[in-house]
Amino acid sequence: MTAHIAVYPGTFDPITKGHCDIIKRTLPLVDKLIIGVAQHSEKTPLFTLDERVALVKEQVQEFGSQVPIDVQSFDKLLVDFAKNVGAQMLVRGLRAVSDFEYEFKMAAMNSRLAPNIETVFLMASDKYQFVSSRFVKEVCRLGGDISDFVSPKIRDVLTEKYRTVRHTE
Ligand code: ADP
Repeated sequence: MTAHIAVYPGTFDPITKGHCDIIKRTLPLVDKLIIGVAQHSEKTPLFTLDERVALVKEQVQEFGSQVPIDVQSFDKLLVDFAKNVGAQMLVRGLRAVSDFEYEFKMAAMNSRLAPNIETVFLMASDKYQFVSSRFVKEVCRLGGDISDFVSPKIRDVLTEKYRTVRHTE
C-alpha cells in the first residue's frame, strides 16, 4: 500500500496557532506530513527563510512522533516540490470567505499542472479562524498581546524582532 504523504505549504511568517491547528487536523489523515516553507512569495517576509524553517521545526515538536513531520524550504513550483517529495495531497487552510477565491484559483491551477495531486482544505477551530501571521505581526508591532495566537516562543521572538527594528530605525 502506498503511504499517504501530504505537503502543507505556506509562508509561515511566523507560524501561528492557526497553522498548528491545521497541522493537528492533518496528522490523522496521513502517513507523513511535509511542511513546505515557501521562499518566494509576493509578500516580503519579516523573518528570513532560515528563521521561518527553524521556528516551524521547533513548533512541530509539540506533535510528538505519532506521524513523521518533515520541515523543508522550497523555492520552486509547489506541485514540483510536492512531486519530488512523493506527495499526493496538498493541504491548505480556509479561514473566512476572503481566502476562498485565491485558494480556489490556486487549487484549480495546481490541479491542471499536476492532476494526480489533490488539494484538501481544512478549517481551523473557530478560536483560530481569524488568526493570520499578518494580523499577529500588526498587533505585536503596535504593542498588543499576541499570546492567544502564537506560542510563547514566537511571541518572544516577534517582540524582540520589532524591538530591534524600532532601535535601528
Ligand atoms: P501563504 O502565504 O501561502 O498563504 P500562510 O503561511 O499565510 O501562507 O498560510 C499557509 C496556509 O495556512 C494557507 O492555506 C492559509 O489559509 C492557512 N492558514 C493560516 N492561518 C490559518 C488559520 N488561522 N485558519 C485556517 N487556515 C489558516
